Amino acid sequence: MKQNSPKAQLHRLLRSMDFVSRHLALKGDTAETRRFAEIYQQLGLAWEFLALQCRHRDGWRKVRDGKSACKVCGLIRGAKEQWLLLSREGKKAIGRRAMPNSKRKFPNRKAATVVNDTIEFHGAKLNVEVLNLHRSNSRWHRKHDWIIAADRLVRLQEGGIDVRFDTHLVTVELSKHKRDEMPTYSHFVSELPRKLLKNFPVMLQFDQRRRFTGLVIFKPNPDTARRRSK
Ligand SMILES: [Zn+2]
Repeated sequence: MKQNSPKAQLHRLLRSMDFVSRHLALKGDTAETRRFAEIYQQLGLAWEFLALQCRHRDGWRKVRDGKSACKVCGLIRGAKEQWLLLSREGKKAIGRRAMPNSKRKFPNRKAATVVNDTIEFHGAKLNVEVLNLHRSNSRWHRKHDWIIAADRLVRLQEGGIDVRFDTHLVTVELSKHKRDEMPTYSHFVSELPRKLLKNFPVMLQFDQRRRFTGLVIFKPNPDTARRRSK
């Protein structure tokens, strides 16, 4: 075992944790007790970080309650890890593409949540929320027993622009709607007069067979957007 391999470090760390946890000083209630308790906390944190590097390849040993622990780092098999280890270079992956995973109807949004996670990535904010079918939390909706469909909601915020994905729509919001303002309008392009269309810097994209392939929105004022994101 190399002196500085994660395995050797873990071995040493676990021995220190054993030593501290069995120390007589922990029995009383003195300044020394508190110091030892704090050291134990710090060792525990160091252990969590070292265990992230463990691939649990040396097998598992049986511990109490029919659970198994990794022979090297002592992590309980199947336990939720508190931290993520990401490589600085190359592609980073966190989690899998989660989808609604039950046909049941859940009593509220929290119980129906499969995933709700957010990351700030070099200044862009990304949230993924996956929900099973559930009863609405809002009091007004509750009165009418409103049911919210199972959905996978993805929201990306960048430079003051907000893009949301759900099962049926991609919604782009360039400016935040304020509560006290009149609600915004929405119409299909074909419903709008030419004169009004001139206000909207949008290009529709389509292929040779005139199938819709996407759209381009020119940012209203790129300079303000850039300044806001700083
Ligand atoms: Zn391990």
